[in-house]
Amino acid sequence: MEDCIFCKIANKQEKAEIVYEDEEFVVFKDINPKADIHLLIVPKKHIESVNELSEEDIELIGRMFLIPKRLKEKFPEAKDGYNLVFNVGKGGGQIINHLHLHFLAGKRYGWP
Ligand code: 5GP
Ligand code: ZN
Repeated sequence: MEDCIFCKIANKQEKAEIVYEDEEFVVFKDINPKADIHLLIVPKKHIESVNELSEEDIELIGRMFLIPKRLKEKFPEAKDGYNLVFNVGKGGGQIINHLHLHFLAGKRYGWP
C-alpha cells in the first residue's frame, strides 16, 4: 500500500525504533506512547483491520500471538504482565488502517 505508514516502516522507507523483526512481522515503539513500554506488533502484509482478516490469514495471526512472550523476555517491565489491544475501526479508535496489536507494559498513561 503506497500511502500506508506502517507498510513504509516495514519496508524501511520510514524510520521507527524497531525492537523485533522476522520475515512476517515488525515490532516497533509507538511514537506517542500510552505506557512506559508501548510497542506495536505489525504484520508486514497490509491488512486493514481485524475486520478484513480472512481464512488465509489464520496461520499468520496465530504466529503473531507468539511474539508477545518474546517481548516479555526483552522488557523487564512486562515480566509481571501486559496488555494486548486491537483497536478496530473508527468507533474503536483505530487511526492507522494497517492491522497492529498494541503491547503495553509498565506504568500506563491512558488507556486501556
Ligand atoms: P490505533 O489507534 O490505530 O490503534 O493506533 C495507532 C498507533 O500508532 C498510535 O498509538 C500512534 O501513536 C502510533 N503511530 C502513528 N503513526 C506512527 C508513526 O509514524 N510511527 C510510530 N512509531 N507510531 C505511530
Ligand atoms: Zn500497510
